[in-house]
Amino acid sequence: MMAHDNDSARPGVGPDFDAIDTYRDLHSHPELAFNEVRTAQVVATHLEAAGYAVTTGVGGTGVVGVLERGEGPTVLLRADMDALPVAEDTGLDYASTQSATRPDGTTTPVMHACGHDVHTTCLIGAAYALAADTSWQGKILAVFQPAEEVGKGARAMVADGLFDRFGKPDVVLGQHVAPLPAGVLGVRPGPAFAASDAMRITLYGKGGHGSRPETTQDPVVMAASLVMRLQTIVSRTIAGSDTAVVTVGSMHAGTAHNIIPDDATLQLSVRTFDPAVRDKVMASIERLARAETLAAGSEREPDVTLIESFPAVVNDAEASKVVADSFGTIPGLMVVDPGSVTGSEDVGILALESGAPCVYWLLGGADPTLFAGASSIQGIAAIVGGLPSNHSPHFAPQPDPTLKVGITALVTAAKTWLA
Ligand code: ZN
Ligand code: ZN
Repeated sequence: MMAHDNDSARPGVGPDFDAIDTYRDLHSHPELAFNEVRTAQVVATHLEAAGYAVTTGVGGTGVVGVLERGEGPTVLLRADMDALPVAEDTGLDYASTQSATRPDGTTTPVMHACGHDVHTTCLIGAAYALAADTSWQGKILAVFQPAEEVGKGARAMVADGLFDRFGKPDVVLGQHVAPLPAGVLGVRPGPAFAASDAMRITLYGKGGHGSRPETTQDPVVMAASLVMRLQTIVSRTIAGSDTAVVTVGSMHAGTAHNIIPDDATLQLSVRTFDPAVRDKVMASIERLARAETLAAGSEREPDVTLIESFPAVVNDAEASKVVADSFGTIPGLMVVDPGSVTGSEDVGILALESGAPCVYWLLGGADPTLFAGASSIQGIAAIVGGLPSNHSPHFAPQPDPTLKVGITALVTAAKTWLA
């Protein structure tokens, strides 16, 4: 349901699209994974105004815009739309004051703390620019994906027939804003973003009175010991030349100081680049959880559950070079190889499932004047390390020139494939 009769008469829609206005609007109206209803409507309105054939509700709240012009390759441009359960603390005049209800019924503040509002705005801008550009032939699939943060949106769109209904792409292109200086684009050939696995471990003991530990099997001690033991997976079982991260981000047990509870629950985040390393880490986690239970004399096996999983993003080497070279022709921009990052992204699923090469690059979003004193890559890296990262309540990309650069990058990369 979209009001599209007189969109071109609405300020900011159609030829007078204003990226900064759209960005501020999306930033102050963030929505959690699979709830991107308003965002999807904004996207659909713009795509229709730009002349795309628009389908909403793909994989839940996803939106697909198709623009076809004669014979030529199909280019999939991808943006994600979801925000995070974070209370914004940027002090911006367009900061989010929104909150939302989570699937478990709890209420949480919501913020675009990962910059998906940047990605969405840039793809809308690129959709307009490509529609106005008559120099190409082929097909554009503008894919606005829900629920990246929970690792489920890309899979949901594929399961809802993304490639059967709209065609298979010849290349998958996209970008993620990062605290690099605005005006810098980072292209990493090969493994670029880590595989991500989220796990929940529940350890079962035997509760009782806090004064009588001899009658219990204390799951709090089991959990504490397991947290320390898990730290030895990376340090003692993974080769120095391989990369893995094991983080225990949540630990819950008990209700009062004098009650030993029955169970304790941990939540873990695991990042790896190599499937063999991933298998080893996952098996180690399971083994250690069982061993801890055994050590405590508990009869009940722990529950070890995989709650989210997405593969590494592997950029096609040849396609990455083509994209990096095309970025090199944009005046005033700097193209760097940022190395692999241990952050994760489900864009890789779109490439894996369609068999198309993927190029997913980093878009600098930090105020370039902060880097004025840096004369080397190491100097820039040191400054990046001190800036609020994605997912921080202080994460605040600078809209100008980030949006302009992001739109130009998408258009330039798309046109290297379009005939
Ligand atoms: Zn994120
Ligand atoms: Zn993100």
